Amino acid sequence: MGTRSAAYTLKLTSLHDYYQRLLHGTQPIPSGFDMANTVKYFSQTLLSLLKEVRESPLEMIKSQTFDGERMALYPNLDYKQLYNALTQLIDVVSLVHIGLAAFGQALLQCLACLMPFLEHDLLDNMPYLTASSISVLPVELHQEIVNYLCFYILPFTITRKNIDETENYASQSISAVIMMVFQYSSNPAHHCQLLECLMALKPGVVKDILCVVAYGTAPARASAAKLLFYYWPTFNQNLFDRRAVLMKFANDLAPFVCQRDSCPNAGNAEAGKVCYDHRISITFAAESPPPLYLCIECANEIHREHPNQTFNDILHPMQQVSMVCENKECFDARISFIEIVETIYIDVFNDS
Ligand SMILES: [Zn+2]
Ligand SMILES: [Zn+2]
Ligand SMILES: [Zn+2]
Repeated sequence: MGTRSAAYTLKLTSLHDYYQRLLHGTQPIPSGFDMANTVKYFSQTLLSLLKEVRESPLEMIKSQTFDGERMALYPNLDYKQLYNALTQLIDVVSLVHIGLAAFGQALLQCLACLMPFLEHDLLDNMPYLTASSISVLPVELHQEIVNYLCFYILPFTITRKNIDETENYASQSISAVIMMVFQYSSNPAHHCQLLECLMALKPGVVKDILCVVAYGTAPARASAAKLLFYYWPTFNQNLFDRRAVLMKFANDLAPFVCQRDSCPNAGNAEAGKVCYDHRISITFAAESPPPLYLCIECANEIHREHPNQTFNDILHPMQQVSMVCENKECFDARISFIEIVETIYIDVFNDS
């Protein structure tokens, strides 16, 4: 424990040193590759600490009530200091000239690994912090930023229950998150992905979209207005074909793939299931933060080995969802798929 703690503190000093050098332009300017390696050390350390935990931190994170209990699951390292160091680096990231993408990738991964170790106020800030990295990280990381938000950050932050039953700050920050992504990503598929994720997690996202329409920058408000009308349920399904419109928005939608290290589909199969057990997750995907997203084949395989584990369905992009009821003997072939989707969303709310 003593050596682990000493190594951790020493690496924190290097992060601080990177920040100082970048800020003051002191030679040698650290390269993104060096920084990425240091940040990866933290991701690996956090995952190995998490793997030793027998309780369910991903279950506990759902409510502020368990924060004390959850924080007591881990050895006494300075997680807040790591969070602060990463935040500082985001501020100076535009001064990194070589290996920026490598650093950005390591940074996003580390933030997601750090989630279960964070206390209330820092968790609250995670969605906006992650979203704001889109303003400084290169375009090739935009899809990854949206994926981290949708699959690792938002599901564990905006639905968290505050002790005093008020809406948490993470949930209140959603209009700012949407604004960031709509402003800096020029890919409409990212906008659709973010909104569809939010609709499943937060009631009344329409107010956040309206907020972007009202106060966003020109590109953000244009996209928000289009998508507001796009996702608004139609009263008459025959008026226009949603799919045709959606194709225009989302034809570059990149599927989120199976994260298992030894997936037989080698990272090409779309994830359809999620397992919230952090130990299963780290066992089968040694470098990914939990939860574990799996293709159907891997989920079945792991389920055979671990029959007591639960594998939950994940929402597929609306693009893949049928517009009308798929039952051939349906009494009403005109039933709108939006109604079906709404029913799914209502289920999600009632479950949580
Ligand atoms: Zn797989
Ligand atoms: Zn499914
Ligand atoms: Zn039907």
